[in-house]
Amino acid sequence: MIAAAPEFSTHQTHFAGLAIAPLAEQFGTPLYLYDAELIRQRIADLTAFDVVRYAQKACSSLAILDRVRRAGAVVDAVSAGEIRRALAAGFTAHGETPGIVYTADIFDRESLDLVVEHAIHVNCGSPDMIDQLGDRRPGANVTLRINPGFGHGHSQKTNTGGEQSKHGIWHEQVDECLLRADRYGVTVTGIHMHIGSGTDLEHLSQVCQAMERTVATVGRTVTTISSGGGLPVPYKSDESFIDIEQYYRLWDDSRKRIEQQVGHSVRLEIEPGRYLVAESGALVAEVRAVKKMGTNRFFLLDAGFNDLARPAMYGSHHPIALCPRDGSETTRPDVDAIVGGPLCESGDIFTQAEGGFVCSRKLPLARVGDFLVLGNAGAYGFAMSSNYNSKTRAAEVLIEAGQAKLIRSRETFDDLIRGEQIPD
Ligand SMILES: *Cc1c(COP(=O)(O)O)cnc(C)c1O
Repeated sequence: MIAAAPEFSTHQTHFAGLAIAPLAEQFGTPLYLYDAELIRQRIADLTAFDVVRYAQKACSSLAILDRVRRAGAVVDAVSAGEIRRALAAGFTAHGETPGIVYTADIFDRESLDLVVEHAIHVNCGSPDMIDQLGDRRPGANVTLRINPGFGHGHSQKTNTGGEQSKHGIWHEQVDECLLRADRYGVTVTGIHMHIGSGTDLEHLSQVCQAMERTVATVGRTVTTISSGGGLPVPYKSDESFIDIEQYYRLWDDSRKRIEQQVGHSVRLEIEPGRYLVAESGALVAEVRAVKKMGTNRFFLLDAGFNDLARPAMYGSHHPIALCPRDGSETTRPDVDAIVGGPLCESGDIFTQAEGGFVCSRKLPLARVGDFLVLGNAGAYGFAMSSNYNSKTRAAEVLIEAGQAKLIRSRETFDDLIRGEQIPD
């Protein structure tokens, strides 16, 4: 069953059961809010899969990782920093299903040291990684991330397969990788493909076929297959949720054929980032100016693309709602507004389409002091935030059982200049 997208209202006074305006006053703005229960629900949606491996790059704050772990998911790490975060949040490297998998196209020196020190399972995205790991940890088990020769999606920046992609091991190089592995006694126990088919089930079945072909080449040592991430969530009212049952069925059928091939049971992993956390998060900002430029009306916020980069980076759409400062439900007249931030950069606009085209949005008329709520900001929101324009990064608050808990303090000027020195 495909659930329709929620109605994205342009008026919102509450988040996860709590009034937004007092939270904004208590913790200040810009402010990231997260709904812990929604993260648990999204993990529960995927229980048909043997393993839910959270791609933490979507939102790697320690408290979020902790809640993900308590909800029964394991984690993916793409850098030394993410390995350290996973360890700090209580994930362990060991166990039949590794609690942490390092997935990347390279080892930098630090990540290779860490992976060796903690015996962390590696998903190799380049043949060189097999040699580099094998040299330091002969006899290790590894997964291969395969680029099946085709990708998906129209955005060059988010496509994860095909000749243009830097990700994974080219599908015609699997034999060569097995020879490399043999040299170090390394065993290939898993195959991974992260293509991001989204809702395109026709495309997904091609990925499944590519998985089966790859496992046929590798053979009986394979005990795990991973379907990667890329599960979409609706950002607009005309978009829908993915049909998880059908998505699972395609992969499960493929897994069963693979089990026939290899003669033993095979674990099926899924590796979502966005799906688990996108909807759980919102960025709350204060309206600091309302002005007209000819016929255009601008709402300017105290949050910019330093806080939420996706609109400026990909032209992504986020739902936007007005929360009047007094928390009232009173309706304001709808107007066409362009929503922007404080940065000295003309691209600092939240209402833009791919290619950087500035658009307006029908929103209730805001006044200075009101709050705007940018929805579906939990994935690639805080995680991509920066200090551009010497802005301190926002505070983060987790809402759980009706309680608001600070999980990251707002950065201070001292945080901003830590490590800087003025030589004589
Ligand atoms: C980014 C990433 C994911 C998660 O992608 P989503 O689109 O957020 O689900 C999963 N696996 C790998 C290897 C990734 O790099």
